[in-house]
Amino acid sequence: MNREIKLKNCPFCGNDAYLAESWEQTKIVQCAVCGCHTVHYANKLDAIEAWNRRVSAPETSEKKSR
Ligand SMILES: [Zn+2]
Repeated sequence: MNREIKLKNCPFCGNDAYLAESWEQTKIVQCAVCGCHTVHYANKLDAIEAWNRRVSAPETSEKKSR
């Protein structure tokens, strides 16, 4: 089964991100404009997940309610 997961837009500049592969064949997700990226993952799904999690972090960050 080949699941396609959509990459969210960059959390910093809001532009498109893409999946890149390093020379070691690790996967990262990188912003096409500002160049911010995730750390390297062996599995592309992990990289995508990490990216999407980071993107949604500001909105869904734990509520600091008192
Ligand atoms: Zn960006």
